[in-house]
This record gives sequence, C-alpha cells and structure tokens, in this order.
Amino acid sequence: MESTVKFFVALAVMCLGIPSVLTRLPMNMGQFIRAVQQIEDAHPRLTALHVVRSLRRQGGYDDPFTEHFLKASNDSSDYNASMPNPELSQFIRHAVHHKVTEKGREKGMVLCGDGTTVALGPVLLGIEAGLLAGTGIPSESLGVLTLAQTLGYSFLKSPYQKLGPDGCWDNVTFPKVFTLSGRASFAPDALINGGMDGMLLGTHLSSLSSHAMRLSTVLNGYYRQDLKDTDVPPLLISAFRRDNFGNLVNISILQDQIWASLSVFWTLSGEWHRPLGMDSIIQMGLKHFSQRYIECPAIIPRCQWGARSYRGSPVQLKLPLSFMYIHHTLTPRQPCRSFQKCAAEMRAIQRFHKDDRSWDDIGYSFVMGSDGYLYEGRGWQWRGAHTRGHNSRGYGVAFIGDYNSTLPSRHSLRLVRERLANCGVGGGHLVSNFTWHGHRQLVNTPCPGEALYAEIQAWKGFRLRDISGGAVSQAELLKANQSDTVIIN
Ligand SMILES: [Zn+2]
Repeated sequence: MESTVKFFVALAVMCLGIPSVLTRLPMNMGQFIRAVQQIEDAHPRLTALHVVRSLRRQGGYDDPFTEHFLKASNDSSDYNASMPNPELSQFIRHAVHHKVTEKGREKGMVLCGDGTTVALGPVLLGIEAGLLAGTGIPSESLGVLTLAQTLGYSFLKSPYQKLGPDGCWDNVTFPKVFTLSGRASFAPDALINGGMDGMLLGTHLSSLSSHAMRLSTVLNGYYRQDLKDTDVPPLLISAFRRDNFGNLVNISILQDQIWASLSVFWTLSGEWHRPLGMDSIIQMGLKHFSQRYIECPAIIPRCQWGARSYRGSPVQLKLPLSFMYIHHTLTPRQPCRSFQKCAAEMRAIQRFHKDDRSWDDIGYSFVMGSDGYLYEGRGWQWRGAHTRGHNSRGYGVAFIGDYNSTLPSRHSLRLVRERLANCGVGGGHLVSNFTWHGHRQLVNTPCPGEALYAEIQAWKGFRLRDISGGAVSQAELLKANQSDTVIIN
C-alpha cells in the first residue's frame, strides 16, 4: 500500500512538476553533496565519471556545444541507473540547470558553506573534463567549458555590459530563492565562481594518476566550511578560490580558449556574422574580469551576513579617498573561522553599533574574518563611522579579534594589505599613493592593538604622521561628534 502511494506521489511529481522536494530541501552545497551520496550509495559500482555525467544529463548539459567538447552524456547504459528516485532527479535538475528568469531570479546554483554561491554546471563540467584528460578529449575543453564559454558569450552578446552581479538568498540557513542584486549580465558572479571552481578541480583531477575516488568526497573536501589555523593557499578549498585561480590562470591562454569557444558557437549556430572589433572587446572584457575576480578579493555582501538596513540616509563619499584606517574589533576576542561564525559576529557588531552606540549602521567600511573572506560594512561608496573626524577621508577596515599580542593570519593580512588596497585603487575608490594609518594615530585609543599596529608599520604606504597636514577642522570635528562618528575601539 505504502509503495503504491509513493508511486503515485512520484508520478504526480513527474507529470505535474509539483515542487514538493524543492520546498523541502535547501539549495545549499551540503544538500547537493548528500544527493550525490544517495546516487553513489544506490550504485556503488559507478565511477566518479559515471556519476558526474549522470548529473550533467539531469542538468540538461547535453547540448551540441557541450557534446562537441565532451562525449555525449548518455553513451552507456550504466548511466541510466543513476537516479534512485524522481524526487532526487527533480532536485538535481533544479540545482544544476542554470538560468536567469525575467524577474532577476537566478537558478541552477547553491549556497556554499563559505557564504559564496556557485553555479553547479561549470563545476561539474570542469570535473568531467578533468577526469577525461588524457583520453583524447581536446586539451582546451576544461577552460572552454568552465569559463571561456561564459565569458565569450557574454562579451559577444553584451559587449559593453560589466560582468556580474552577485545576489542575495532569501534565507542563508535555508536558501531557496536567489535574486540578483542588479541587471543580469550573461556572466553573473555565481557562474564565474562555478567556472573558477570547475577549472581548479578539473586541473587537480587531471593531474592524478588514479580516479578511484567518490565525487562526493572530492566536493566535500573542496567545499568544507571551517578553516583551520594552518590552512593557507594553495590548499584546494573554496575559501581560497580567487588566490588559487589567480595562480592557475593564464590570461592569454584564456583569451585563446574564448576564441575557441566562439568559433565552435558560430559553427554550431550557423551564425557567420563576426562582429567587428571582437578582439579588442575580448581584451577589454578580460581586463575587467581580472580586476573584478582576480585582483579584488571576494567580499561577502550585507544581505549574506544578515545586515539590518541603514538608519536614515547614508552619506556618499567624495572619491577617491587618500587613507585606509586599520582597526581590530577587540570584542569578539577570538577570530572567526567559518562563514556561520563570522556572519554572526558581523550581526553582533552591527547590533552594538546601532543599538548600544545609536549609530546609523555598522561603523566599519569593511571587516576581515579569519575564514578567508572580507565582509561588507558600509562599503566603498558610503561614509563610515570608524575613525572620529576622519570618516570622510578614508576607509575603516577592522580585523575581527583582539590583536594586542597576536596577529591575524598571514593570509588575512595579505588580503587587506594587497588585494583590498589594489582593488580600491583599481576601482577608483583610493588614490594610488594612499596612506595606511592605525586608528590610534588619529584618536586616543589603543586600537588596533600592539601587535597589529607594529605589523602595519611595515606596510608600503604606512606613515607615522598625516603628511597632508590633515589636522581635522573644528567644523569637521563638531559635525563628527554630532553625528554617528564617535568610536571607542
Ligand atoms: Zn579602531
């Protein structure tokens, strides 16, 4: 009797597309990996290649373009046994098949444990290409299928639109709906993240002599959530996606792969019209790509850490600014090493600044966790409340923790000193010869702690004195003290 009911429920799901499983399961990486494990447990003799191909077929990546570079996904009867039940099949299809709807919703991706979102299609295509390396599959397949086709198509169809954007999940503990935070390009951030992961994982797998591992093990290792003290790049985990990708990618090879992908696209689609100036469009697009995804660090947006909104109207900064002010949070004392913990700390800092200090928002411009990520406070555009009397002149960057006797990890320090700073200069937010200061140089406070203050004195651009003669005007001080710009740490 029970099996009859199950059969009809399954039949209803297949025929009517009732989204029961989609309301019951979160769209996160942990759930996706559990789905992969279900397939592996049901068919223990399938190899990682079999499993990844069955996922590709479920996700609808058996189009002529993909099959030009990889074999057809259903060229063996083994694969047909891979989906243990229709609910699983529905979940996989929803998680893997990428699309952007007219309402600005993006589908075909999952929220990772590190707080970033990845499209699964390019991850799986990269893994498949990596597993197939050395079997007669053309060597450019890996680069084309993970990133070059996304970039090439975007440059071709929308040459002057910037890549991205990122977006927000409706709920980070039980994510179901993802909404883009601006006008969609053909290469939103999730597709680029998935492309970088696919290229990294595929390259790693192609270098192994044996592929006798489970796909779920590969994914679990790469997408694990908590960083350890000793974790530093080039450890192959998603928190170091941009560091590792920056070390791996060769832009001139990527450019060739974009041409290879466009040429196959034109051949398959029968479009013989080649836009003029495509070469310079690709070069310009790749420059933007490098700046946005390699030079700039990943910054977890406010919606992802659960920020409350700004009280009142934020004040627009006059760019570019000339200073970066370093802080530590002091409380909490312990560094946070996972997205869950850092996001909770961000909410606590904002609560303290808004509710206890009565400021309009979290004071800092950016906050550095010990989970490999920066977190967006007031960001590049809006005046912060971090360094009394100087908030219009510089950005305030805080490291979560107490850095009187210890230092943040070398990776966290480098992310702020090099990547965030270069990103600010490249994006026109900071002058190229900007100055680093510790909070204590401008306000009577021990912040950013003895050890961290000693560290930043070795940074290029650090100055003991404000050489711009930047004594704060009485008017600015008065205004600062009346508004939300007083800070204790
Ligand atoms: Zn401070």
